[in-house]
Amino acid sequence: MKVILPEKNIPTRALVVEKPHGPFVLQDIILDEVRDDEVLVEIKYSGLCHTDLVVQQGRVPLGDFPAILGHEGAGVVRRLGSCLKDQSLMVGDRVLLSFSSCMNCSYCAQGLNGLCARIHKINFTGTRLKDGSNPASLSSGTGVRSKFFGQSSFSKLAVVSETSIVKCELSNEELAIMAPMGCGYLTGAGTVMRVLKPQKESALAIFGMGAVGLSALMAAKAIGVERLIAVDILDTKLSLSISLGATDTINSGKVESLGKALRELVRDGVNQIIDTTGLSFLIEDGVRALGHGGSFAIVGAPRPGETITVDPLDMLRSCKRLIGVVEGASNPVTLIPELVKLYRQGLFPIDKLSRTYSVIDLNTAVEDLKAGLVVKPILSWESV
Ligand SMILES: [Zn+2]
Ligand SMILES: [Zn+2]
Repeated sequence: MKVILPEKNIPTRALVVEKPHGPFVLQDIILDEVRDDEVLVEIKYSGLCHTDLVVQQGRVPLGDFPAILGHEGAGVVRRLGSCLKDQSLMVGDRVLLSFSSCMNCSYCAQGLNGLCARIHKINFTGTRLKDGSNPASLSSGTGVRSKFFGQSSFSKLAVVSETSIVKCELSNEELAIMAPMGCGYLTGAGTVMRVLKPQKESALAIFGMGAVGLSALMAAKAIGVERLIAVDILDTKLSLSISLGATDTINSGKVESLGKALRELVRDGVNQIIDTTGLSFLIEDGVRALGHGGSFAIVGAPRPGETITVDPLDMLRSCKRLIGVVEGASNPVTLIPELVKLYRQGLFPIDKLSRTYSVIDLNTAVEDLKAGLVVKPILSWESV
C-alpha cells in the first residue's frame, strides 16, 4: 500500500490495547506532526517480544491505557523533525528501532545506554518526557500511549524518538529478518559482548533458549567461546541450540538438580551463566554451580514479589558476581551495526529464529510463541 502523507494530523492504523488484558485490535488512529527531535517511520516489520505481552496483561505498573505497544520496529524514514542531532538522516533511509535512553547520564555518556538511570521511565511510560503528551490519538480524540520504547511500532506509521533510531543500510530481505535487533537480539548479544566478555577458554551456560538466550549463544560462538551449555525444558529448543553452536545441553525439566547437572559437565564450575528465565529456583541453583570468580548475569527479571536467596558469604569467599542486565547494557547505535556485520559473515544466523506473520494473524503469532513453535515472531505491515 502506498502511504500518502497529509501535512498535519496523519491517519494510520495500529494495534491498540484498550485496557490491561484487552486484546490487540487493529484500528484507525491519528498521529500528530513530528516534533523537532522525532522521526516519522513507516513500519515494515515489528518483532513480537515477551515484554509486549507482559505489558498488555497489565503486569508492568508504569504507563497508561489505551496503548500501542511494539518495540522491535524496522522501517523507512518518511519525515524528519527539524532539530535532529543526526543531520545525515534522510527521508527514505532504512532504520531499525531500539529502546530510548536519556543521553545525559553517566552511563549513556559511556555508551552503556542499557544502564541508563531513566531507562524504565523513558521506555515504559510511553509518552513524551517533556510534557507527558502522546503523539497518537484514537478517532474519538482520546490519547493513546504511543512512545513505548520511543516507538510504539505496532503501527503502520510511528512517531519515533530520535534516540530510538539506528540507521542501517539493509536490503528488503534483511529488514524483514532484523526487526528484533533493537531488543531481543541486542539483549542476548550485548550481555555477552558488552557485559560478560567471556574468554575463549570459558565455560558459559545459558538458561532459557528463547530469542535472548539463542542470541547470547550465537554471539558467544561468534567470539570463539569454546564451551557453551544450553539449558531449557523443550528438547526442540535444545536441538536448535546445538545447530547454532551449543556444545552441551541440559533439559532442566528432566534433571533432579540443574546445579548438579552443570557440575557434572564442568567439575570446577562454569565461569559464566546468563539467565533469561527469571525463575528464582534456577537462578539460585545456577549461582551455586558457578566456579570460583564466576559471573551470573540476570537478564530475565523475576516476577514482582519473587525473591532470590543467595549466600553473600559464599559469594564473597568464591569471588562470584551477580549482575542485573537490561538491554545488554549496550548502545544500540554501535552494537546493532556490529551484529548486522556478524550476520552477513554467517556468524549470527538470526534468520534461523524467526517466522514472519501478517499483522492480521497476530493471534496465531502469539499462540505459536507461547507454545514454543516459533522463537521470534515478526509481524509484517505490508497488507495493512
Ligand atoms: Zn541515560
Ligand atoms: Zn523486548
